[in-house]
Amino acid sequence: MSISLKEFEPKGRDNCFCGSGERYKNCCRGEWPKYDFSKKNICSGSPAKLLKILRAHITWYRLCHLAHTVPLVRGNCDDEKILDLDIKAMREMLQQARRLYGECGIINNFPYMLSELSDAIADVRWKWSISCEEAFFNLSIKKDCAEARAVLAKYKWQSIDSSELLEVYLEAYADNLVHIDTISIASKVIELTDSESSKLHYRFLISVQYFLLNETERAEKLAREAIEIYEAIPVSMRNAHGRWMLCLAIKQLGQILGDEEMLRKAIELLIAEVGGGNWKSKALADAWYQVGECYHLLREFYMAEKLYSRSILIEPSPLTSVYLAKVQLDLRRPDRAKEILDSLISTTMSKSNFFDYAIIRCNVALCTKKISDINFALELIKKVSTVDPYFKDLIQSFIVSLYDLKISKSSLQANSILARINRYVTLNPNLGGFGVNFNAMIDDYLSKKAEK
Ligand SMILES: [Zn+2]
Repeated sequence: MSISLKEFEPKGRDNCFCGSGERYKNCCRGEWPKYDFSKKNICSGSPAKLLKILRAHITWYRLCHLAHTVPLVRGNCDDEKILDLDIKAMREMLQQARRLYGECGIINNFPYMLSELSDAIADVRWKWSISCEEAFFNLSIKKDCAEARAVLAKYKWQSIDSSELLEVYLEAYADNLVHIDTISIASKVIELTDSESSKLHYRFLISVQYFLLNETERAEKLAREAIEIYEAIPVSMRNAHGRWMLCLAIKQLGQILGDEEMLRKAIELLIAEVGGGNWKSKALADAWYQVGECYHLLREFYMAEKLYSRSILIEPSPLTSVYLAKVQLDLRRPDRAKEILDSLISTTMSKSNFFDYAIIRCNVALCTKKISDINFALELIKKVSTVDPYFKDLIQSFIVSLYDLKISKSSLQANSILARINRYVTLNPNLGGFGVNFNAMIDDYLSKKAEK
């Protein structure tokens, strides 16, 4: 086989097929013939060694693609399926490369590799794979959402048939898509993906959209279905992502329904996850934050305080501090709440964290009724911008009640707003990855339920 592959090799001075940017003669020319990649190789070693082998594998795979697949595709009408195998294999190698680039400390060179490999397979599905990695890199490694959108701007989502690319698309445009588009895209992901955990994720995301649209009965039904379908999968077949999504889905539905049993179940599941895994500190901090919030919702404030503090000790996050401040208010310690909030720098917070921060500041003002707190809260809440009608109403009622308080030292609205706040759910779109602003539709929903 290797003899025929040799005909397809690049020239020695040309860039290597592996995407390193090195000349072929200095890179993989002497490497790929050392291995028999048609057999399963079990590799171990340092990341640098593994990357070298992966590069040789990519080069070999591209040579095979040129030698075997391309001639077949030319002569065959069933080419989609044949190409599909190559695209899937190469996509997996891209993902491995991303991981190894990270481990080798050269992750910033990864986009260069993507550009070198962009023409490896002449098919739109390969272009999607490359764009997916590129946008993902910008979103999750460079934290540059605008750059991710620039990568995606060449596509209309309607013409994308790759679940991975659509998932990145949803993430990048989370703040800009109308609910109906989010539902359509998420439905497409569910249709295209083989991953049960992704199906759970996007089924739940759809239910959240219906909550935001005030179609609450439908939303509840969809949320329950999403959970039931996933729970039907034997525990041994569930992966870490799916188990985590299940925890969050149960917690959030428990939150919406005010269902104590669900919240307790979420606590139990989250603690079981934390106990069983080798977690990175950020994920661990997130998990304890989630457990803390469950206790907070159950009005077990001391437990909530303890777990928020544990989360902050592992890895500080402005959102957790905001919630730690909120629980101080619930424990009737407004001064301590203010101390915590004063220690945060609101100007560098994300939009959704700032929203939470401003709302808790309003909460402080409504508790203390001090003019300086009221003025500060008003200043902050006026800076919050939102397109969502629900939040516009919420902000408006805050402003009105704070002005009331300024004039008369009492506010008719204050108590009802405080009640709403106590049900208030995080706006932070992405702690667990539902990718949406999940919020206080809940009060409306609960009051509607209560009327029945
Ligand atoms: Zn190479």
